Parts: sequence; C-alpha cells; structure tokens
Amino acid sequence: MVISSNNIPDSKGINSYYRDKSLAKLLEYYCGKELFEKVENKFIELGEIVGSELEELALSADKNPPKLKKRSRVGALSNDIEKHPDFIKIEKLVFEKFGLAAMSHRHDVFGLQQKLPPIIKYGLTFLFVQSEFGICCPLSMTDSLTRTLKKFGDEKLVEKFFDQLTSQDLDYLFQGAMFMTEQHAGSDVGSIDTFAKFEDGSWFLTGDKWFCSNPDADLAMVLARHNKKISGTKGLALFLLPKKLENGDPNNYEIIRLKDKLGGRSFASGEIKLNRAFAYLVGNLDEGFKQMTDMINMSRLSNGVRASGMMQRCLQESLFISNTRNAFNKKLIDLPLMQKQLLKMLIITEASRSMVFKAADLLDKADKGDIVSQKIFRIMTPLIKFRACRDVRKVAGDAMEIRGGLGYIEDWLDPKILRDSHLGSIWEGTSNIISLDTIRALKKDNNIHIFKNFLIDSVKNNSIKKHEKYLLSAIEKVFNFIESEIKDDFTSSSRQITSSLYYLSSAIFLIKEGDYSEDLSYRTKISELILKYKIDKNSPITRDDIDFALIKELI
Ligand SMILES: Cc1cc2nc3c(=O)[nH]c(=O)nc-3n(C[C@H](O)[C@H](O)[C@H](O)COP(=O)(O)OP(=O)(O)OC[C@H]3O[C@@H](n4cnc5c(N)ncnc54)[C@H](O)[C@@H]3O)c2cc1C
Repeated sequence: MVISSNNIPDSKGINSYYRDKSLAKLLEYYCGKELFEKVENKFIELGEIVGSELEELALSADKNPPKLKKRSRVGALSNDIEKHPDFIKIEKLVFEKFGLAAMSHRHDVFGLQQKLPPIIKYGLTFLFVQSEFGICCPLSMTDSLTRTLKKFGDEKLVEKFFDQLTSQDLDYLFQGAMFMTEQHAGSDVGSIDTFAKFEDGSWFLTGDKWFCSNPDADLAMVLARHNKKISGTKGLALFLLPKKLENGDPNNYEIIRLKDKLGGRSFASGEIKLNRAFAYLVGNLDEGFKQMTDMINMSRLSNGVRASGMMQRCLQESLFISNTRNAFNKKLIDLPLMQKQLLKMLIITEASRSMVFKAADLLDKADKGDIVSQKIFRIMTPLIKFRACRDVRKVAGDAMEIRGGLGYIEDWLDPKILRDSHLGSIWEGTSNIISLDTIRALKKDNNIHIFKNFLIDSVKNNSIKKHEKYLLSAIEKVFNFIESEIKDDFTSSSRQITSSLYYLSSAIFLIKEGDYSEDLSYRTKISELILKYKIDKNSPITRDDIDFALIKELI
C-alpha cells in the first residue's frame, strides 16, 4: 500500500482477501470450518495478487483486446484469435493455478481428493473478478459446458472430451462456448433458424450466429432447428460443435469478425457462420432448449457472482479512499454526506454477496438431489441475475465518483469496472427477460408457495427469534404484492416482483449470517436497512440511519 504525501490513496499491494473483513467468516459459514481450513490458503494466495499483479494484467488485457487472424501468412483460412500475452497469463491463473473450471468436476484440484462445492468456486471467482472480469466468460462457459455435457450427453461423448475440458494444463485444455443468438433471435430464442441436417449418420449445422463469446473455443454448445416444421423452442436440438474434426482438419465454420465491445474487452466475442459444420447431438432431439437452460442458468448465476465481486471491489476501494483522503481538513469518511453514500453502496453490495453465497449453498444441495433446494435455486437464479447485475452498474458509477477525477482516468480500474458492469444485465437475458423468467419460475407447480415457506422456515429459527415478527410481516407484505400482481407471463410488474423478492430474501440471509458469529453481527443492521429502503419503499435514508460504526466496522 502507498500512502502518498500528495493525498492520493492507492490500495495497491493490500491483500484483497484480508482487507475484506467478512469474507473469511462468510466462507466458513457456508462451507463449514473443516473444508474452509483446507482451502483458505488459496484465498490468501489469490488475495495477494488481486490488487497488484492481476490488476496490472487486467488493465493491460483490457487495453489490448484479442485480434482475429483470418488467414495464415501462406494464405490458408483460419479461425485463430490472437490473445495478448497478459490475457494468456490471466488464463493460466484461472484454468491452471486455481483450477476454477475443473474443481466442480474433478476430485484432484488442490490435492484434496474431493470435488469442491460451488461456494469455493464462486468464492474464488468473487475475489478474482475484483480485478478481471473478462476471463470469467470463458471460465463460466467451460465449466458450465462440462456440466451440461455430463448431465445430458451420452457416456461416450462425455468420455471423449471430459479430460480436456477439465484439464489444468492450458495447452491441453479444451475451452467451452455457447452459440444461440442470431440476428433476429436474441431474447426470442424460439425463432432460431440455424438448421441441423442428419446425413450419413452425422449432424451438420448451417446458419449464422450473431453473438459468440469465446468464439475460438474448442467446443461449443449450439442450438439448432432439427425440424423446420416444428416452430418455437420445441423444434430446437442441442449440439456440441468441435473446433476441429476427428482428422485434425478445421470444422466447417468461419469467424466472420470480432465485436468491438464497450466492456469485457480482454476476451473475444464474434460472429460465426456455420457452413455445414459437423456437430454431435447432445441428449434428446426434442429437448434441446430445456437442456440448454441448465447451461444458461449456470451462466446467469456466474454473472451474479461477478456483479457481486465487482461491487465488493468498488466498496472496498471507496472505503479505503474515504478513510485515507482528506478534504476540508477532514478525512472524507468523517463527512456525513460521504457516510450516506457509502452506506447506500454498502447495503446493496452486501445483499448481493448474501444472495450469491446462499445460491451456491443451495446449488450444492440441489445437485445432491434435494428437491426443495432445486426449486429455490431455480427462483434465486433470475433474482440474482436481475438485481445484482443492475445494482453493480450503480455501485460502479458511485465508486468512480468517490475516487474523484481520477476515477475517470484509465490508470485506475474504475473505468474498466464501469464498462464491464453493464454487460451482466444484457447478455444471458436482458433485465426484462430475466424478470419474466422469475414469474415463470414462481408460477410453475406450486413454487411461489414453496419459496414463501422456505423463507418463513428460515425465519422461524430459534436463534433469530428477536427478528421473527418483523421478518414475517415483511414476507407477508411482499407475497401479498406478488400474488396481486402475478397475473400472466408478461406482467408489467415482473421487475418490481423480482426486486422485492431479491431484497426480502437477502434480508433474511443477512440476519442468519449475522447470527453465526460476532464478527458478522453487523449484517443484522444491514438487513434492517435493506428492509427499510428496499421493501418499505416510503422511507428514504435518514440522518439517524447513518451508522458510522457500521461503516467503520468494514474498514
Ligand atoms: C458482449 C456480448 C456477448 C455475447 N455473447 C453471447 C454468446 O456467447 N452466445 C450467445 O448466444 N449470445 C451472446 N450474446 C447475445 C445476448 O445474449 C443477446 O444480445 C441478448 O440476449 C439480447 O438479445 P438481442 O440482442 O437480440 O436483443 P432483443 O432480444 O431484440 O431485445 C431488445 C430489447 O427488447 C426487450 N425485450 C425482448 N423481449 C421482451 C419481452 N418479452 N418483454 C419485454 N421486453 C422485451 C429486451 O429486454 C431488450 O431491451 C452476447 C451479447 C453481448 C453484448
């Protein structure tokens, strides 16, 4: 850390794991003491580089986006993408050193002889994204493609690619991607017209995919129409598209060009023309879209984790700056107006963390077969994707302002985080589409009541008795609102419903975390503030709410 004589705070060199006062205890709460003790050194190791080496690589990769090499020097067509050496160093950290794409699938990551639960993967990602957002796309694509392939692909197909998809050697690794969107078909996936033809015992895909992130991935999941007579998502099948054919020749598709993006500039997104490209069918022919939603939902959750991690970086920087920089002969943090700004950032940042860590916990239980967890996780996914990915846009803008003029300058991470923060609410489903997905998930079966009962059960727990009454009344209030509004699939209130359910749930999880340890007890106060400002909407932040002790606790 540099405390400069010119009053310009620079947190470089501070361990990002240690400076976050809650992370260790929260990880311990969600993954259990025994496992936490075994993996904590990885968090310390990562924390050590996030604010220094990784940040430098991320800033460099952001300024040096990948380039498409359409032809070799002897004129051969190629689909190669030239990545900047600093991005390759980032890839090595993610895929090799921290094994983030492998740890949910293999038993040997970190030498622990066990598959690591989602909370470890998402906890490390939460820390990693505090400097580098771009790599999280190829990471999530590779990890979730492996999961979807294992779930629905036939045994031989899984066996063929499993080792490479989960390799911790970048030269041997197969990365993943997902190609759905077409020029006329983004939100409206059911209008996809890439066509799949079965000839001589194999499938061949022809079509134009308009947004393809990680386009030079070795394997991509692709949705294509297997029968032109069946319209909508019912006529879509899921295919696995290899970059190379069995004989080593390139597959028949062309990366037309790369997108010039606002954010996520370190990794490539492109357009792909499939010219009778060979592909393997995954799972059932007429369940392509249903199967693909597994990969989409994993990616949506990963986007929520990224949003939460970026918010945490913004919050930590803002706290650090406020506690270090002076104006008007005072530390910024001693100015009441600044305290109010910090408090507003703090409550939504911490709400997001409770939501993503709880979702990771539920995913673990869901994958072990717990039906209620499967249903709760299904609903939590759009809640998080919607709200956290919108809140990060605000927090990133506010954090930029707290650094003052320097927040606008590219030497610092703020402009990059601001640009990156806007992607989460667009891809993998825009905010409208995601909020409609919440409605769909709530209306399916008896899920709305299952979710309500889950929240009530969480509250009716002896250890949080003193909060029981007002939490139960908040649950009643929110569900009365939802039940009065949830009329049809295209309800115009779907965004309010999603937000209120998100904040209500976060308030309950925050209280439970606060109850776990004295170190986390401040989270009870955050929960109260969330309920006040986000559920009881008529009450603005007042002077009395500015809890300096709460802010100080996090510095
Ligand atoms: C950088 C980047 C990378 C991407 N990578 C990939 C990738 O790897 N693979 C992939 O398949 N796709 C990818 N996408 C595509 C992305 O998922 C789509 O752009 C997104 O889903 C929106 O689709 P669209 O662009 O066609 O917009 P549209 O679907 O046309 O939406 C336009 C607007 O209409 C609204 N809208 C649509 N339907 C409704 C409705 N029913 N009710 C209310 N409002 C509605 C939307 O919310 C949006 O505001 C990427 C996009 C970006 C920006």
